Formats: sequence, C-alpha cells, structure tokens
Amino acid sequence: MRKITLSNGKVVEVECLSCALISGLVDLDGEVVIETEYFHAHQDVAYPIKGLVILASKRHIKCLDELTEEERIDYINILSKIREAQREVLGIEHVYYFYNEDTTHHFHTWMVPRYEWMYKFGRSIESVRPVLLHARNVMNNHDNITEVRKAIRLLAAKLNK
Ligand SMILES: [Zn+2]
Repeated sequence: MRKITLSNGKVVEVECLSCALISGLVDLDGEVVIETEYFHAHQDVAYPIKGLVILASKRHIKCLDELTEEERIDYINILSKIREAQREVLGIEHVYYFYNEDTTHHFHTWMVPRYEWMYKFGRSIESVRPVLLHARNVMNNHDNITEVRKAIRLLAAKLNK
C-alpha cells in the first residue's frame, strides 16, 4: 500500500492511485473531463493550466504496447476528440503530449496546451517540466484555479453531449 497526498491535502492509502481514481474511491473533485469504455480523462488542478488534460488507461497497465486493439482505437479516438474540444471551446492552437512508461500510475498521456508565456522556458521537451512547476508554484491562485475549473466544465460539456 502507498500513502498518497491528494491535491486537496487529503491523504489516502491505496494499492494503485489510478485504480482508486477510476473506481471512484478517490474523489476527483470536479476534475473529470470524459470517460470512455477504456479511458478516463481528467485535469489535475495541482498543475493549474487551462485545458491541461491527463488521459489514463482504466486497465492497470503501463506501456503503449500493452493496449489491446480495442483500447488502441479508443485511445486515439478520444485523444483526438479531446484535442478537437480544446481547440473549439478554448481556442488552443498547439498541444504538447507527454507520456512515460516508468510510472507508478497507469498508462497515461499528458496533454499540455501551449500558451505564449511558456516560450520563456524553451520551445520543446526541455520546457515541459519548468512549465508545469511554474504553473504549480506561481499560478496556484484563486482566480487562475477558477479559470481552470471553468475550462474543465467547458471541455466536459463539449465532450459529453
Ligand atoms: Zn492500477
């Protein structure tokens, strides 16, 4: 079992945080964007960037090549739909995608929208970590979190209609 501190400060003890999230054991506090048969998409407001989405496999796997044929199709379809919704309801022009297989979570893809302010951290992969840290440390204020939560509702409304 692992003890995990959630973004709201609550500490939970779980075998696997991803399994706990998907089963509803851990409340995502209005951060869910959409669910499909095999995937679960949410925003982690610990990184308060408008339109950032984490797309995670419901099954307890880590690697892309562990996805079944059906899961692969579901993955690319929902990834594309979320991307389209980011463009249509939030006007997001570009997105950076990131996933690592040596994770303690399930197979999951970060979809990090690209905003003007991010370019001071670089133009490519090297900018991703500083961008996320900047968001967590500097943008973690009431007004920005309100914006972020509004964006989640817009994405969820678009994707679930
Ligand atoms: Zn799991």
